[in-house]
Amino acid sequence: MRDLEEVRKKFINSEYNEEKVYYCKECLSLAIIDVKDDNGNISLSFCNNCGRTDIESTDIFTWERMYREKYGHDFVKFNKYGREND
Ligand SMILES: [Zn+2]
Repeated sequence: MRDLEEVRKKFINSEYNEEKVYYCKECLSLAIIDVKDDNGNISLSFCNNCGRTDIESTDIFTWERMYREKYGHDFVKFNKYGREND
């Protein structure tokens, strides 16, 4: 039953990933580009913003908090309502 176990693991992982965000450790960008090999497996991920390959994953809430702490504004709000006037 090893194959079934592998499939089950992949299924769980894919569901799990939906609640995760992948971000660049350097600039916290979510614009992560995945380079896939012939089997469709991700062989390399890099930041489309700064080009770093230090990619981390976390939940969206943790990431939003990190973003706010780094840039001083809320990422979601910033994008939803446009740039706020100074
Ligand atoms: Zn980056």
